[in-house]
Amino acid sequence: MGAMADAAELRCDAVVIGGGPAGAAAAARLRRRGHTVVVLESERFPRFHIGESLLPLGHDVFDAIGCRERVEAAGFHQKRGAQLRSPCGEHRILFDFAAQGVRPSTTIQVHRAAFDQLLLDHAASLGAEVVVARAKDLEFASDGVAVVGEAEGGGCCVVRARVAIDASGRAGFVARHVGVRVPDRELVKASIYAHFRNVRRDPGEREGDTRIVSLPNLGWVWLIPLSHDVTSVGVVLDIADYKQREKGDLGAIFDDALRAAPLLVELMADAERVTDFGAESGFSYRAERYAGERWLLAGDAGSFLDPVWSTGVQMALMSGVEAADAAVDGWLAPAPRPARAIARFDRTLQQRYAFVRRFVTGFYDEATRDLFFAPRPYLGIHRAVTRVLAGGFELGWLDRLRLQLFFLLGRLQAKYDLVPRRVHDTPHGESAAPAMGES
Ligand SMILES: Cc1cc2nc3c(=O)[nH]c(=O)nc-3n(C[C@H](O)[C@H](O)[C@H](O)COP(=O)(O)OP(=O)(O)OC[C@H]3O[C@@H](n4cnc5c(N)ncnc54)[C@H](O)[C@@H]3O)c2cc1C
Repeated sequence: MGAMADAAELRCDAVVIGGGPAGAAAAARLRRRGHTVVVLESERFPRFHIGESLLPLGHDVFDAIGCRERVEAAGFHQKRGAQLRSPCGEHRILFDFAAQGVRPSTTIQVHRAAFDQLLLDHAASLGAEVVVARAKDLEFASDGVAVVGEAEGGGCCVVRARVAIDASGRAGFVARHVGVRVPDRELVKASIYAHFRNVRRDPGEREGDTRIVSLPNLGWVWLIPLSHDVTSVGVVLDIADYKQREKGDLGAIFDDALRAAPLLVELMADAERVTDFGAESGFSYRAERYAGERWLLAGDAGSFLDPVWSTGVQMALMSGVEAADAAVDGWLAPAPRPARAIARFDRTLQQRYAFVRRFVTGFYDEATRDLFFAPRPYLGIHRAVTRVLAGGFELGWLDRLRLQLFFLLGRLQAKYDLVPRRVHDTPHGESAAPAMGES
């Protein structure tokens, strides 16, 4: 902490490290609850970020931080559901939010540069002080925390606060400092993505759906419409599969993966790439603890799950608000109760991670993926699954029971082939007739 001596000093109730969705939500919530907050963000916004498909039940957070009108006025692309498609396109399972009683029944697909800027501007408009500087050091004391930030030009500042919220995304500035990050060894994947024009879409109101195309070897591809002509397309592969192909450049690996699915060849026939390829790898982890003495982890700083169900931004927004509430109750209240705030926040995030992870690992299990691809017209199972894929992470007992049944059927599928096996659908092997109940 040698830099502290000559650095400009800022004092506040809470320092938030990172100005993405988690950090902006935390800062806005802290301001709405009457506290001073400094956000340290290392990049000048707007900046590119991957993670572009949102979930409808996450929109409650917009109310919690008071920005629903701003978000609605921004004109982001509308999403009414998600679709699972088999590699040849014969099978389509539709998760339609309205048809399954999800309210609100639509959500948005976003260019993250614009969305993140909107949220951070909103926090600033409520009085959060946003400083463009990279947090590079921190020190905890019994009565607070000091974070050293380094600005682009090299100048330093020290932010002194009573509590720190780490919202620095995958960098996990505080998470790594306190040593709580645990890699998820079962979900070791890699992704390559870019934006394209002229990707073929479904007609009518299905035009804005997220489409998830299953690939052989349990890979998959997302197609997320971001505007009337730009679509985000990303490939996710098992790390072993990715490394095996790594001899080529990113574009070659991407094209090669797409060629494995005739449906993708067709949808991308006229596509024109409009951004460079980006890549991420090894991206699932959790935290041993999400809070401790004067620190809280929100969003990807705490944990990250494979993006197959587009849960990341919603989890980031929710945990940003929850971290702010825990900070207020734990250290900033007239009668602070940190032990209780830490325990409650930690429990909430641990449970949510475990709940969503089951859906993610299910998608990477051959038999359960078959089940995701099977029509489920009975017992309300499809409705319960759609609610989760719409961002319903806290369900009533009946839906929980239906999900137990769903995963039980997945285990039985491994032994008894209850539904057609589709994971291995290939140009040569795909069954021709769509199953009953499919759209
Ligand atoms: C391949 C891929 C696809 C995805 N697809 C989706 C999707 O479709 N839908 C979805 O909801 N999610 C998706 N996600 C997940 C989503 O990107 C994240 O969950 C989400 O961005 C988390 O928000 P956050 O605020 O926690 O972190 P971020 O959005 O990463 O924000 C963290 C911020 O902290 C800043 N920062 C980092 N270090 C420091 C530091 N030391 N000091 C100051 N600032 C710092 C960064 O510049 C950044 O702006 C995807 C992720 C991947 C990898």
